[in-house]
Amino acid sequence: MRKNIVAGNWKMNKTLPQAIELINEIKNNKPNNNAEVILATPFPYLVKAVELVAGTDIKIAAQNMHQAEGGAFTGEVAASMLTSVGVNTVILGHSERRAYFHENDALLANKVDTALVHDMTVIFCFGEELKDRQNNNHFNVVEYQLRDGLFHISKENWKNIVLAYEPVWAIGTGETASPEQAQEMHLFVRNLVDKVFGREIAENVSILYGGSVKPDNAKEIFSKPDVDGGLIGGAALNATDFFGIISGI
Ligand code: PEP
Repeated sequence: MRKNIVAGNWKMNKTLPQAIELINEIKNNKPNNNAEVILATPFPYLVKAVELVAGTDIKIAAQNMHQAEGGAFTGEVAASMLTSVGVNTVILGHSERRAYFHENDALLANKVDTALVHDMTVIFCFGEELKDRQNNNHFNVVEYQLRDGLFHISKENWKNIVLAYEPVWAIGTGETASPEQAQEMHLFVRNLVDKVFGREIAENVSILYGGSVKPDNAKEIFSKPDVDGGLIGGAALNATDFFGIISGI
């Protein structure tokens, strides 16, 4: 049975006191349903975040990591550093990393491998740009992103994978994919996983939708059979909005 997940991607937002306040609010007051809640905070707050959620079922994730095991990579963070502070989940392939930091599918494949060596859970993001959808090329783009960045892994590693479909045109724009568009792509992706890795893996992998999910559209998007939750940006920075989205599961 696949999990329902609501993950908040805080991006480069909040000071430490603000982060502590939000984590405490989420910890103390989040709706209790069957959604697994993951918070991807900025790197400097990860140690504190892990400490704050200890004893709860909230998980803390990193927003990125380097593919190398360690060494002379100024400014970068290794998988072993994350796991050593209790962070066992990482977001890889976010469209902002692809666009602004030139992370391509080959690099992402390396990052995925490193994360898996460390037994981390990878939230693997993918999604088409507006021009791809306008050219009716969105299924192809998504298929290549998955094949080139992720599908080299073994069947055993799928227990560590969460997929996140994030159409670039819907991220931070206020324009969300319709529930039907999300369902159509999620079903396409699940069928693709089925074709390559078999039905059991396809049925068990959680596929999250991301892109301007808000409390007022979450329930309808999450009600679709192949949408197993969301990766939330802007609306994860405010407890009321985040709770409204969690309640939509
Ligand atoms: C994201 O960046 O992963 C995201 C989905 O952002 P937003 O919810 O703000 O569109």
